[in-house]
Amino acid sequence: MTNSEAMRGLPAVHRFLSDPQVAAFEALFGRAQVKDAIARVLDNARGSLRDGVPPFGTLRDAVLADLERAQLDALVPVVNGTGVLLHTNLGRAPLAPSAIEAIRDCGEGYSNLEYDVYEGRRGSRYDRAGALLRSVTGAQDALLVNNCAAAVLLILDTFAKGREVVVARSELVEIGGGFRLPDVLERSGARLVEVGATNKVYLHDFERALAPDTALLLRSHTSNYRITGFTHDVAGADLCALGKRAGVPVVEDLGSGSLVDLAEYGLPHERTVQEALSEGMDLIAFSGDKLLGGPQAGIIAGSKPLIARLRVNPLLRALRVDKLTLAALVATLRLYAVPERRTEIPFYAMLAATPAQLRERAERYCVSVDGCEIAETSAYVGGGALPEHGIPSIGVALPGDAERVAADLRRGAQPIVSRIESGRALLDLRSILPQQDAQVITALQSIFA
Ligand SMILES: *Cc1c(COP(=O)(O)O)cnc(C)c1O
Repeated sequence: MTNSEAMRGLPAVHRFLSDPQVAAFEALFGRAQVKDAIARVLDNARGSLRDGVPPFGTLRDAVLADLERAQLDALVPVVNGTGVLLHTNLGRAPLAPSAIEAIRDCGEGYSNLEYDVYEGRRGSRYDRAGALLRSVTGAQDALLVNNCAAAVLLILDTFAKGREVVVARSELVEIGGGFRLPDVLERSGARLVEVGATNKVYLHDFERALAPDTALLLRSHTSNYRITGFTHDVAGADLCALGKRAGVPVVEDLGSGSLVDLAEYGLPHERTVQEALSEGMDLIAFSGDKLLGGPQAGIIAGSKPLIARLRVNPLLRALRVDKLTLAALVATLRLYAVPERRTEIPFYAMLAATPAQLRERAERYCVSVDGCEIAETSAYVGGGALPEHGIPSIGVALPGDAERVAADLRRGAQPIVSRIESGRALLDLRSILPQQDAQVITALQSIFA
């Protein structure tokens, strides 16, 4: 058989398009994308015609696999079985029901985004969350941008362009995703003045670095690492006092920025937003989707006159939050105003779950799926908080080849991300929402059937 004869043997595109399973994808993606997938599979087959023309069924399955993969390339919900509660790759904090409702309500129609409903005139989107942020944090004023990286950039651009920013050498953090403090400083046009040694910094290091050109003293949360052993740090209050004496604003990039003391949940104490402000920080920046448990956002809180200067920086226009973020953030902040409502924030519900509750759920998995075993595990907060602190947790260890099982879980109709521990795929129940248990069990049953 020559190549051209074999080529004639390949099924025509319309034969794929009239297959009901392929056609189902047409309703999802449109005809063009489905045709592209068919073309890719036919191209591939043309390359190996020496081995004969594959049967139509084989080619159709390859088209379906290509389309299923494309489906997973779009943004889809995922079950988080990793045990990392604020997993940046998996979208960090799940939102509270009231935040989802607010997104739906404000997204479905119009809102008072930039309109003062009471007075009937133009309003400011930045006022929508302002009062709540002031009351929840205790700050004089607050401003919202897209994320914490944008908050830091806006602060540096406003106050430090062409001037010096003093930072302890031990705090020049790189968090994931290309945010590296020294690089952000450089991009903003500020000059970095590093002080102290890697392990030790003293107040007199900062004092000596003060110069007429000093714009800011900057502190940063060392989110994802710890320097332990022979160390010395400067207390926030001392740094703030020095800033006041010198007339230089002190700014802290808090990163996660908790509004509550995590010690309430049996975790080590993590510096809170309120603490940083009460020590006298002039401005702090923190994320909306880490320990706050809300949507991606960057919150700047602190001195009213300094925030007034941020508000008139033209860069703010490029960093402004959209209405859906605002809607979700306001709804989430309201849950902090009433302590009993805090566990409506999924992150705090996950922290509050007891090992006994997790074990009860794990038992349901084990009676429904053959070969599963209950395992004691450690969950982690994630989101650049308490990187070394494991939270006692319960997982379900799955039978079979770990890599194979993990891939089957990821590629199912409802992708599930597991973690591999001691050679087995494992689902940590602390990061799986209880309302997802039924669908996860169904997925496991079909994999291990
Ligand atoms: C996470 C983090 C950031 C970046 O926050 P985003 O909201 O993701 O932009 C900045 N600084 C520190 C210290 C962080 O931990």
